[in-house]
Amino acid sequence: MADQEVDLFVIGAGSGGVRAARIAASYGARVQVAEEFRVGGTCVIRGCVPKKLLVYASRFSHEFEDAVGFGWTLPAEPTFDWPTLIAGKDKEITRLEAIYASNLERSGATIVKSRAVIEDANTVRIETTGERVKAKHILIATGGAPTMERIPGIEHVISSNEAFDLKALPQHVVVQGGGYIAVEFAAIFHGLGADVTLVYRGENILRGFDDDVRTHLRTEMETRGIKIITGVTVASVEKTEKAYKAKLSDGIELVADQVMFAIGRSPLVGGLGLEAAGVRLADNGGIAVDEYSRTSVPSIYAIGDVTNRINLTPVAIREGHALADSLFGNKPTIVDHSDVPSAVFSDPEIGCVGMTEQQARAKLDKVDIFRTVFRPLKATLSLRDSRVLMKLVVDGSNDRVVGCHIVGEGAAEMVQAVAIAVKMKATKADFDATVALHPTAAEELVTMRQPTARYSRP
Ligand code: NDP
Repeated sequence: MADQEVDLFVIGAGSGGVRAARIAASYGARVQVAEEFRVGGTCVIRGCVPKKLLVYASRFSHEFEDAVGFGWTLPAEPTFDWPTLIAGKDKEITRLEAIYASNLERSGATIVKSRAVIEDANTVRIETTGERVKAKHILIATGGAPTMERIPGIEHVISSNEAFDLKALPQHVVVQGGGYIAVEFAAIFHGLGADVTLVYRGENILRGFDDDVRTHLRTEMETRGIKIITGVTVASVEKTEKAYKAKLSDGIELVADQVMFAIGRSPLVGGLGLEAAGVRLADNGGIAVDEYSRTSVPSIYAIGDVTNRINLTPVAIREGHALADSLFGNKPTIVDHSDVPSAVFSDPEIGCVGMTEQQARAKLDKVDIFRTVFRPLKATLSLRDSRVLMKLVVDGSNDRVVGCHIVGEGAAEMVQAVAIAVKMKATKADFDATVALHPTAAEELVTMRQPTARYSRP
């Protein structure tokens, strides 16, 4: 006999799970949410939000340097206090966590602070109490966790989870990885004053991004003083008296007081009772779902990072919302996963939406590239050695802008707006018809007249 009955049982109170729960409750569904850690999930507790706060902090060092060219004299060498930043960040995420929890409760959903395990297609067991809940629908929204490689000395290596709570700012950091998190944390630590070496196994960082973007960002990072070593991995980490020794696969040894791995995140599928319930996994390790986020068991659904589709918060939120609309709002909704904009909060940052040049050339018969690299106005007085890259990828057969890639200050903010135009299927002629807003960096997006390259498939 089940102790309780609900219409929707959500496992995981991250961005996606909370959205699904709230919308479902607003339709009158009886909803219970189980969370074993903190309400808010990766994004709020140890992802996007605290990361962006650290990014803001790290950028002041450049602002101080740049100010001199504009006539400012700084009273003394600015100093930075890591504990102040971490305390401020902790306060903000605690505030957000409380808002998430109260929004959930106000919607009518109940939260249980416990791990939950699926017993069968319609039963969930609350680990802390042993209570069983009968659920018409079960939603798995457990997210993901950092992947760690089993190398000798891995116990000395931190992931992004620990990076947010270090007691002190490390002075010499080795970061392994070439994706979003590695590049962002390299910029954070460097901006805050650490000496940073990025170790990446491939040829160039940010595989999957437009090749121009990858090369441009790498050059900018190196110009700023981040060392990037490619074609190697960290083979072992040894603790020495005062620091750590990271031995690379080519034999080189790096000394650091912190070694961090950011080598991907894995869907959190363990210990949920998936196998017993018959929930199948996809080849990429995520829970296999259809376009309505339904798993191989018709009453069980999964959304967000645990499905390993597009692992971004706004996508998980959409998937959660769509699921609640489909199940309880009488509005069957499929999430459109195309043209999802994304950003890397590196220094300088990247914003992009749509196809890369390489994807477009592989897929389309005709491709026009509009590309510009320029020195931003601010750099003329600050004398900062930095360039902005902007690139539009256009389908040459219908003039549609199918991709936009920017590296430079404000790239993420710009691309959020450009993404609307891309989603609306704007043409290059529409961009040209838009009057420039002067003086901005963004005006380059509407003033690139001639293609810098044209490709036609034979
Ligand atoms: P990514 O998948 O983006 O990058 C992982 C990196 O680690 C790649 O460079 C990969 O190399 C490398 N790698 C993988 N396995 C190994 C290994 N065994 N040894 C050495 N290197 C390895 O993962 P992240 O951890 O950076 O981020 C996870 C996800 O979180 C992102 O994909 C993104 O969806 C999300 N995220 C989004 C952010 C944003 O929107 N700004 C910020 C942070 C995270 P290779 O390229 O050769 O495979």
